[in-house]
Amino acid sequence: MIKYIDEYQNKTLVDKLLKQIEKKAAETGKKQINLMEVCGTHTVAIFRLGIRDVLPKKINLISGPGCPVCVTSSEDIDLIIQIAQQPNVITATFGDMIKVPGSRGSLEQLKASGADIRVVYSPLDVIDIAQKEPDKKIVFLGIGFETTAPTIAAMLAAARQQKVKNLFVLPVCKVIPPAMKVLLDDKTARVDGFLLPGHVSIILGTEPYEFIAQDYHLSGVIAGFEPLDILEAVYMLLEQISAQDPKIEIAYKRSVRPEGNPQALKILYEVFQPRTAAWRGLGRIPASGLVLRPEYQDFDAEKVFNLSPPEPEKNTGCLCGEVLKGKITPEQCGLFKTKCTPETPKGPCMVSTEGTCAAYYKYSRG
Ligand code: SF4
Repeated sequence: MIKYIDEYQNKTLVDKLLKQIEKKAAETGKKQINLMEVCGTHTVAIFRLGIRDVLPKKINLISGPGCPVCVTSSEDIDLIIQIAQQPNVITATFGDMIKVPGSRGSLEQLKASGADIRVVYSPLDVIDIAQKEPDKKIVFLGIGFETTAPTIAAMLAAARQQKVKNLFVLPVCKVIPPAMKVLLDDKTARVDGFLLPGHVSIILGTEPYEFIAQDYHLSGVIAGFEPLDILEAVYMLLEQISAQDPKIEIAYKRSVRPEGNPQALKILYEVFQPRTAAWRGLGRIPASGLVLRPEYQDFDAEKVFNLSPPEPEKNTGCLCGEVLKGKITPEQCGLFKTKCTPETPKGPCMVSTEGTCAAYYKYSRG
């Protein structure tokens, strides 16, 4: 039984598993097997560990929409920029978001022109800022998936309990399963199975993914992030595909329980409720976003500031939407490595540390 993290990197076990993967891939009888890793952390781990290079050629790993920075729409970034320009406002954000371009610039450019924009490492830091700056309005850009949203919810519950009146959240958190349904309904996306996200599934468990096997007859395995974690999940997917027995399984058993984390889900849905949200590249998806419940509306920056951002400028040439749907690789975008680099990003997939374009830029030998 494996007990320590370095055992998940054991080369002998990796080699053994790769041989089993090769055999199982042959047993599927398929010429090509398309597996989508939904999560941005998996995308980076797969590149960093060189997993694409050691898998059989017929296994095609496709990167999906699981990077919260990348799927934040231009409209939402334009709105936070508009709020950040209001008098007496301090904007707080996670570091990855500061460089992401909206249709008319980024928070970083606004900060350079004098706006008070601060990077925080935890949503709880925002309460400190609000208490130290009682005469200012502190607006936090609430971005993330099911992993981060419960922490934002806990921060708001604490702010409410402490009667903090100058703290607001622009709620742009999203939930993953409805976006996967949109991908599956898009018949042009050919996927045989999903490497399901490890961190998000710690909160969700397996139930929210069951529709993938039941309604679409496709396989899904929740994976961890070490070499053996990812390879074991690939092997389990191949087993399901060759047996034509699609289901949702957990490979990342040391962290994920079938029921998820009920306490985190409880606080999440005490503060937030589902709503339609705009995803970059995927459009508006019902019940895929989180908005504050009526009892938390005084914290809702969207309602308090009541601003409408100008119509976003289109046709920047960025193909992040197609990358996020797994339809193209970054190398098929004409701006990749020419006009678009980590220093001069034209889209969020190049900004985020979990972005597919950034991962290709850093690790791909193509
Ligand atoms: Fe967008 Fe840059 Fe990626 Fe092209 S390479 S899709 S411009 S982020």
